[in-house]
Amino acid sequence: MDDYQQTAARIHEGAIVVDGHNDLPWRLRVQFASNLDEFDLSVRHEDGHTDIPRLREGGVGAQFFAAYVPSEIEEGAARYATEQIDLIKNLATRYPDLEMAYSADDVRRIVASDKIAALIGIEGGHTIENSLVVLREFYGLGARYMTLTHASSTDWADAATDDPRHDGLSEFGEDVVREMNRLGMLVDISHISPEAMKDVLRVSEAPVIASHSGALAINDHARNIPDDVLRLVAENGGVVMVNFYSGFVVPEAADVVRNLFDVVRDLRAQYGDDEEAVEEGWRTWSAENPIPQGTVSDLVDHIDHIVNQAGIDHVGLGSDFDGITVSPVGLEDVSKFPAITEELVRRGYTEEDIVKILGENCLRVLAAAESVAQRD
Ligand SMILES: [Zn+2]
Repeated sequence: MDDYQQTAARIHEGAIVVDGHNDLPWRLRVQFASNLDEFDLSVRHEDGHTDIPRLREGGVGAQFFAAYVPSEIEEGAARYATEQIDLIKNLATRYPDLEMAYSADDVRRIVASDKIAALIGIEGGHTIENSLVVLREFYGLGARYMTLTHASSTDWADAATDDPRHDGLSEFGEDVVREMNRLGMLVDISHISPEAMKDVLRVSEAPVIASHSGALAINDHARNIPDDVLRLVAENGGVVMVNFYSGFVVPEAADVVRNLFDVVRDLRAQYGDDEEAVEEGWRTWSAENPIPQGTVSDLVDHIDHIVNQAGIDHVGLGSDFDGITVSPVGLEDVSKFPAITEELVRRGYTEEDIVKILGENCLRVLAAAESVAQRD
């Protein structure tokens, strides 16, 4: 180990690493019909990105698991989300290394007891089926953030990768944001259009997150966040947690994956709810459209840029592991988070800065959303 590595190892060990987005629950649904007898999270796997031994090796303290529901599932979207929430809780019940967390204090307590905190984030606002009652019930089930859209615009929010329907958020969309503030559920601006991001940032009293998004100035795919929005996130007190998908990280990859979400939409139109066929189609498309994988350095370029635009208090990590096909060399799975710390040390970030990026910024925002909440 060189000096950088030693310093990095010490900082990483002492930090609470929070990852804003992991798609293991959807993978378990598609590949194993959500049957946990078919997939043992407690042993190391050669495939996939996530298991407990690799989370431990990566020093992950808190993992947001996505209760993801594809945009195309409209009928029964709330049931899908509920089933994915149930699956996340089943993981935490089954494995003593995991414990459900519902607050920033929970995360600190669970990490102090040498367990991994599991949190729930709903991905896709269509899952509330246009009902604030369903939104409230999702909070009651334990969801602590909701991504307002996935790939497609909903009845009340525009997606970054679809035709706009509302020039941002509709009036009901603004009500959703206010209700999330009232509950203490974080508003996640990943996947939504820049106009919708600006509407959220105008309406939200609580700081917001982008659970898995990079900087548009580095990689100009629509899934990334423009500089003016980065500066608004800083004013709002929120945090942008950087996505690890090479397609959204490496500058030259943006063109190759420009139409990624249209490809997935077409696959869904073709295969309906045959999720295995959709996944297979996506993997085939990915193989036929190779992208430069990039390195940890490419990933940290996004962090540098967000720090430059928004400040050190407004950046974090949101890997999207198990929801992505390609990630930078050196960041192959959840065991590799220490590589980011190493690169940050090499670039001269202080220990205080690094601890913020690794997790403290996200925990600050979660706690701030809790204090804005008025639930009684
Ligand atoms: Zn996503």
